Amino acid sequence: MSIILADGWIVTMNPKREVLDEASILVEGDRIAAVGTRAQLSAANPHAEVIDCRGQIIIPGMVNTHTHLFQTLLKGLGDDRVLRDWFTCMTGPSAVELTAEDVSAAALHGCVESIRSGVTSLVDFMYAHPRPGLTQPVIDAFEATGIRGRVCRGFITTGEEFDIPAALIETPDAALADAQRLMRSHNRAGGRVQVGLAPSMIWALDEATLRRTRALADEERAFITIHVAETTFEIEQSQARFRCTDTELLSEIGFLGPDVLAVHCVQCAARDIGLLRRHDTRVSHNPCSNMYLASGLPPIPAMLEAGVTVGLGSDGPASSNNHSLFQAMKFAALIQKGFHRDPTIITAEKALEMATIDGARAIGLDHEIGSIEPGKKADIAIVDTSGPAMAPVHHPVSALVYSALGHEVSTVLIDGRVVMRDGHMTTVDEGAVMARSRRAADSLTARAKTAHFARRPWRSSAGRSQAEHSTTRAPA
Ligand SMILES: [Zn+2]
Repeated sequence: MSIILADGWIVTMNPKREVLDEASILVEGDRIAAVGTRAQLSAANPHAEVIDCRGQIIIPGMVNTHTHLFQTLLKGLGDDRVLRDWFTCMTGPSAVELTAEDVSAAALHGCVESIRSGVTSLVDFMYAHPRPGLTQPVIDAFEATGIRGRVCRGFITTGEEFDIPAALIETPDAALADAQRLMRSHNRAGGRVQVGLAPSMIWALDEATLRRTRALADEERAFITIHVAETTFEIEQSQARFRCTDTELLSEIGFLGPDVLAVHCVQCAARDIGLLRRHDTRVSHNPCSNMYLASGLPPIPAMLEAGVTVGLGSDGPASSNNHSLFQAMKFAALIQKGFHRDPTIITAEKALEMATIDGARAIGLDHEIGSIEPGKKADIAIVDTSGPAMAPVHHPVSALVYSALGHEVSTVLIDGRVVMRDGHMTTVDEGAVMARSRRAADSLTARAKTAHFARRPWRSSAGRSQAEHSTTRAPA
């Protein structure tokens, strides 16, 4: 099957960062065969289907380097809490109740939501295993919707003293054996969906389990992702237990490497950043979640200056509260500009790089995806600029990062296959996915008794101190 995406504005993200006006892309099979004029490509392949892209911006599909798809059922229940309260009061009790039906409904919804906003690759971090078999529904959702990515089998092996529910704590033997079984049954060279490893966070793991995880990743040539230095609590715990930061511990035990994606790194100091660079460990930056949970402002400019690869993530929708990388791009640029009082510190171009080619590098797939270049996989999003939010477009990259809301994505290709066409999903029945997700969300939050968080009284910030006010939603 061949397709010509004709006469669009192509933001290539190739090494020269070329932006081509009225240019076309020939897709043959699962790959980009050529970039040129419509006439050239039609002559080369006269039988190709033509999709008219006039007035539209064509970008490489975005790479969401961090989410927890199961949290798609928990949107809006975690407002105005720091991470530990958020986990103890709402996310933990909900995770304990998860069934395969909940995870399936959530993952399908999350994948559809992602594709709709131009994401073609996802890293899912599935750490909630109150019962066996909860990774498979995530893999199945990737397969059903056609999205690319890494399904990372997460685990928590300690942490009852920090109020992590006992039902979420697995033995290292059980977690690693299940992860190995999944990797061996699903992973094949070049496969669209790959299973990886996701040790949750230092304060919910012990050193021996981290060492075993590294050894298993080496044995299976697997990708690893782990939460690192998200909050001050996490750093305090590492200092108390190991007399060093969590990044220093990971470095010391030989855990870090280019196959490790460290998520958040909000509290990383200069020495930690140096270690990330030295091991070529990649970072997932989740600006919406870091602000939502008041975790702090990660030192992204210092990481970029040091040469660390940084991709963008939404984080789970219980702390962000959607899967939009358009929001992540805008937040990533704006929070650093405001904090540093430097409008050039993260530009629109840098934000788009983090969402595309740098995100691809962060998950070890930049040789295959992340830019529009002949030979790469045809993972492409087409953005309609004619609506009121984006028009008028004077500069396509600025329009994508600062004006777009995400719903402007009209058509999406993954592996050369049209998975959304003119706003309609082609791989799954979106209405059925949404109805099932709504039922699962109601059932889960009723069982977990967290539904009441959605029916809380109005929480005004009036009368609070300035410091408190800064983490509280202001009245409309
Ligand atoms: Zn996370």
